[in-house]
Amino acid sequence: MAKIQAIRGMNDILPEQTPVWQYVEGAARRILGSYGYQEIRMPVVEQTDLFKRSIGEVTDIVEKEMYTFEDRNGDSLTLRPEGTAGCVRAAEEHGLLFNQTRRLWYSGPMFRHERPQKGRYRQFHQIGVECFGMAGPDIDAELLMLTARLWKELGLEGHTRLELNSIGTSTARKQYRDALVSYLSGYRDQLDKDSLRRLETNPLRILDSKAESTRKVLEGAPSLADYLDEESIQHFTQLRSLLDAAGIDYTVNPRLVRGLDYYGKTVFEWVTDSLGAQGTVCAGGRYDGLVEQLGGKPTFAVGFAMGLERLILLLETLDLVPESVNGNAHIYVAAMGEGTAASAFRLAEMLREALPGRVVITHCGGGSFKSQMKKADRSGAEYALILGENEVASGTVSLKPLRSGEDQQEVAWRELPALLRSRFGNE
Ligand code: ATP
Ligand code: MG
Repeated sequence: MAKIQAIRGMNDILPEQTPVWQYVEGAARRILGSYGYQEIRMPVVEQTDLFKRSIGEVTDIVEKEMYTFEDRNGDSLTLRPEGTAGCVRAAEEHGLLFNQTRRLWYSGPMFRHERPQKGRYRQFHQIGVECFGMAGPDIDAELLMLTARLWKELGLEGHTRLELNSIGTSTARKQYRDALVSYLSGYRDQLDKDSLRRLETNPLRILDSKAESTRKVLEGAPSLADYLDEESIQHFTQLRSLLDAAGIDYTVNPRLVRGLDYYGKTVFEWVTDSLGAQGTVCAGGRYDGLVEQLGGKPTFAVGFAMGLERLILLLETLDLVPESVNGNAHIYVAAMGEGTAASAFRLAEMLREALPGRVVITHCGGGSFKSQMKKADRSGAEYALILGENEVASGTVSLKPLRSGEDQQEVAWRELPALLRSRFGNE
């Protein structure tokens, strides 16, 4: 019978890969914690309407990328394509936004029915951050500072660049939209099919078009910057000076509009040139209108999401994963002979206590000395500890270095913790 395989574009993350995932997630978690951001966990499935009402009906996501289905009650549900909508829904539902500021983050899988390719999958993972109740631009700047810190911690400084824009208030965008539509209408024959359709539905998204002919036409298009309202201009100017003061480089990209309807004022993307077309590793912006749009009180809000697959791909491409991130064991305890298994467990427990953070594997499943040593070697451990009946009787153990040329030696149990602590630098 044919074996059932995973769904196209939905990846298993295998044991060899999880160390680098944990490394990136751990760094993000630590940094977010150090800025006082709190984790929130939302369901993976929401009412379809939540996404339609927030992301916008005429967006790539809602038009063609959502996994939507009817559950057994006939309700229309959708696997979340992004986290902001669910985060706003949850925060509002539990009264987290009333008269207070919030700095929240979440992490988990998102689902979009896109064409799978390098850096683009149907199930992918994001770490997202959403801040509520702060008018900014200080909080906008903080978000960018904390992402910059993460890049630095991961060794990505200089490999990602920040693109920044202000897309103004909805009134400003409306005026600009009219100007853009009347300009583009004169070039209908040169626009790609998607852009032509968007001319009627969501013309700003045309700025995002990757089609060559459309990009040519856009070169002469009016610029959104010329339509910005005074308040947005001020917000943007202040944000820029905060970033300058923090030493964060950026370029202003007047064509940056983002694919979701709820953004206004600040929008940004962290981009790399090392991943080809899927070069955006982190993207976000301000969405002051969304909470109200979903039925809450008007609430200032700004956030971003980073794509973990792309980040990890980038680290691997640039060979920036530290050697220590390898999932290797440190110590492998082997035991041979009558009644040695219980001692092996006791020894291993003693070492776990004495050497926090070190990985101690106790051999299970029996087998010859040779086969146990083979497993010890494969575990990546630095040392094998070998217990036989004689060692158990004399309260010693054989310490066998697996990676260095050092000699095997007999060590008393009570001397072992100190010896290994010094070998591993666990002082
Ligand atoms: P793109 O322009 O690449 O399609 P997007 O604008 O649709 O990205 P967002 O909705 O802003 O992306 O999501 C934030 C981040 O999540 C992206 O910058 C990217 O790193 C990641 N991401 C988005 N879609 C995918 C996907 N299908 N597979 C892997 N990562 C993704
Ligand atoms: Mg997309």
